[in-house]
Amino acid sequence: MKRLLPIALAAFLPHSGLAVTGDKAEFKKIAEDVYAFVGKRNDANAMVVVTAQGVVLVDTGNNPPETRLLQNFIKSLTTQPVRYVVITQNHGDHTGGAPLFSPPANVIVHERVAKDWAAWKPYQIKSWRKRFRERSSALKDVNPIDTVLSFGENMTLHLGGKTIALVYVDDPYNPGDIAVWLPQSGVMHAGFVGYIDRHPDIRPDYSHGTTAGMLKQLEALAALQPKVMVPAHGPPGDAKDLHALTDYLLSARQKVRTMMAKGLPLAAIVKDFHMNEYKGWDRENHFEWLAETVHRELRGEGPQIVAISEKEAKGTIAHAEDEGRRLLVRPPSGRDLRLRITADTDIDGAATDRSQLKAGMKLTAKYQVPEGFNSPLGYDVTEMVVER
Ligand SMILES: [Zn+2]
Repeated sequence: MKRLLPIALAAFLPHSGLAVTGDKAEFKKIAEDVYAFVGKRNDANAMVVVTAQGVVLVDTGNNPPETRLLQNFIKSLTTQPVRYVVITQNHGDHTGGAPLFSPPANVIVHERVAKDWAAWKPYQIKSWRKRFRERSSALKDVNPIDTVLSFGENMTLHLGGKTIALVYVDDPYNPGDIAVWLPQSGVMHAGFVGYIDRHPDIRPDYSHGTTAGMLKQLEALAALQPKVMVPAHGPPGDAKDLHALTDYLLSARQKVRTMMAKGLPLAAIVKDFHMNEYKGWDRENHFEWLAETVHRELRGEGPQIVAISEKEAKGTIAHAEDEGRRLLVRPPSGRDLRLRITADTDIDGAATDRSQLKAGMKLTAKYQVPEGFNSPLGYDVTEMVVER
C-alpha cells in the first residue's frame, strides 16, 4: 500500500523546511497519566496512556533506537505492562516499533490496515521478526497479524478507569487512518491529519488518502474540541491546529481549481503550484504530489496505479542520510543509485537496523522500480545484505 509510487521523487532533496522539534526525543506530560513522546527533528510522535490495568501505547517511534527509548520511558513511569499498541496510520515510522511490545501486547488497527498486514510478503515478516534483535527468539514463530485486534467503524477501550475512543472517519480512500480520543482529559492523537507546521504528505496513488478525506476527518475531529492535540509529527498543539490544516487544504484545492479553470495542463499546474505563504513549514518537497493528487480528485479520477518491477544491485554506500533512510550507492561500474530504506526493509549482515548504515559499507540490495516513471531520486529496498 505504501510503495505504489516513486516515493523518492522529491524525498532525496535536502529538506527545505525547518525541523520544529529538538535534536532529542522529548517526553511531555499532557494530562494526568497521559504523555506525549515528541520525536526528534519532526520524527513520528507517540502517546502513552497509563492505567491501573496496563499501558496503552499509541504509535511506536521512527527507528528501533527511538522505540527502545520509548520503552524505557514507559518503564520509568509504571510497572504496568504495555497491553495495547494502537496504530494511527499504516506507515513504518508509526508501526515499526510494534514488535518490541507485541506479543504479549495486542496491536489494535483499523480493519483496512489488518487486511494489509495479513497480506505481508515474506521479507516484511522477516524484517518484523528481527527488527529488535532482543526479540528474535520470542518472535520466531509469530506472524505480525497474530496479535492484531481490528475494528471497522469505531472502537472504545475501557481500561483501568480510562476511556480511550478510536475514531475512524470513513471514505473510500481512507487507508485505515484513525485518531485516538480521550474524552476525560480532552487529549487527542489526531493521527494522519494531525499536521503542525508541516506540508501534508498526500500522494496521487491515494496511499495516504485524499484531501477530501482529510477534510472530512478534520471536521469530525475538530468537533470534539481537543484541549491538547498530538500530531503525527511535530510539537503538540490544540484544536486550532486542526482548523489551520483545514484552511490549508481548502486553499490548496482552490489554487488547483483556479489553474484548472484557466485551462492549464497538469504539468503546468504541478510546476506553478506552491504553498509558500506557509513559510517555515517543513517538507516543501511535498508540493508536487499534493498538486497532482488534488488535480486527480477534482477531476473525479481514482488513484494512480503504477506497476512495480524488482531489481538487484551491488555497491558501496557513498553517502547515508537521515539515519540510513536514504542512501547513495556506488556500483562497481555505472551510475550511482539512490535507494530508500523503509521500516520494513529486511536488513541482513553487518547492520541490524537502518540507523547503523554508514558510508563505506558494501551491500547487495533488491529494490522496487515503478515502471514508466522517471524517479531519479531513489527506489524502495525490500531486502539487503550489508558487509563492512
Ligand atoms: Zn509519519
